[in-house]
Amino acid sequence: MDPSALLHEASLSPFGEVAPPVFQNSLFAFATTAEFEAAMEGGERPVYTRIGNPTVRVFEEKVRALEGTEDALAFASGNAAMAAVLFSLLQAGDRVVAATPVYAGTYGMLTKLLARFGVEVDFVPGSDTEALVAALPGARVLLLESPTSYTFELQDLSPLTEAARAEGVLSVIDNTYGAGVYLRPKRFGVDLVVHSATKYFSGHSDVVAGAVAGPKALLDRIRSLGTVFLGAKLAPWEAWLLVRGLRTLELRLARHQATALELARYLEAHPRVRRVLHPGLDSHPQRELAVRYLEGTGGLFAVELAGEAEARAFADALERFAIGVSWGGHESLVLPLAAQPRVRAAYGFPGGLVRLFVGLEPPEALRDDLEHALGRLG
Ligand SMILES: *Cc1c(COP(=O)(O)O)cnc(C)c1O
Repeated sequence: MDPSALLHEASLSPFGEVAPPVFQNSLFAFATTAEFEAAMEGGERPVYTRIGNPTVRVFEEKVRALEGTEDALAFASGNAAMAAVLFSLLQAGDRVVAATPVYAGTYGMLTKLLARFGVEVDFVPGSDTEALVAALPGARVLLLESPTSYTFELQDLSPLTEAARAEGVLSVIDNTYGAGVYLRPKRFGVDLVVHSATKYFSGHSDVVAGAVAGPKALLDRIRSLGTVFLGAKLAPWEAWLLVRGLRTLELRLARHQATALELARYLEAHPRVRRVLHPGLDSHPQRELAVRYLEGTGGLFAVELAGEAEARAFADALERFAIGVSWGGHESLVLPLAAQPRVRAAYGFPGGLVRLFVGLEPPEALRDDLEHALGRLG
């Protein structure tokens, strides 16, 4: 990536403004039928914000630069981005091979929506490369997410995408964890990269958004079907906030990563903590894959405590970590999986599993908070 791509954008008007204008309009008007027809045929000028908008395009260009792909498209949420991909590329009778544990919102889309339209899914443990490869012949899409966002298991991307390509299967990865900075899937042969821009891209817990990056031919298909007909295009004001968020993406990630690693090491040595699931620790069972694929690890990881009661008590005793879903903002969060029984049951996660997101607060304050909460576990 050219890092300046995150900081600057080509000026959209002649004033040399250093932040893009917000084109807060639904349609773009034309003086002549010929101009209108040229725009409708995919010319330079925008027509309607559900299809494309100049402020949204600035954000899309940044995601494209970040992932090093030919093009990128923005959506109203991460789930909308995934829906646009899957509903544009799949049809009845097709089969998806999904590496588990899949993000809960994607799992629901596959099992509750796509299943009703005649799309089959094989769920295969993401750490079992052989089983994933064996499931590929005859499939249409291979769905990856590495590391996974509850238990932080990695997938061996290069052999998987190579096998997928040989079988004519499209590979799609959820790269919300790596944010295009710590994991660059295109280098490992992945066709389409999906993001929840709600997380690190926004960075301030004030936007819900998504994006897809990949080759132009595939994105043209997603644009003409998923964007236009499903209609969940990103709004201009949200795009403007995302452009602002992206300017500090690498700085924020570095801070999240440093504090999270420090806290993970502290927790690993604590007698009340059974396990720490963090790809940056030497104790991670797939540390070798982490070194091969990840350029960093960010602020998200999990710990396992003795059981459900301890997980709840720990979350309740924390003061600097609020209980909440999502992540990627300035604020630290804790998510005891005991309080998410459906997700827990779907994957058989242990009752003591607790996900932590480490925000931008002073590291010492967070460490004191963890120490205090663990000390109260009796
Ligand atoms: C949040 C999230 C999503 C869904 O994104 P939304 O913006 O909430 O729709 C998808 N994948 C992962 C890993 C996520 O964390």
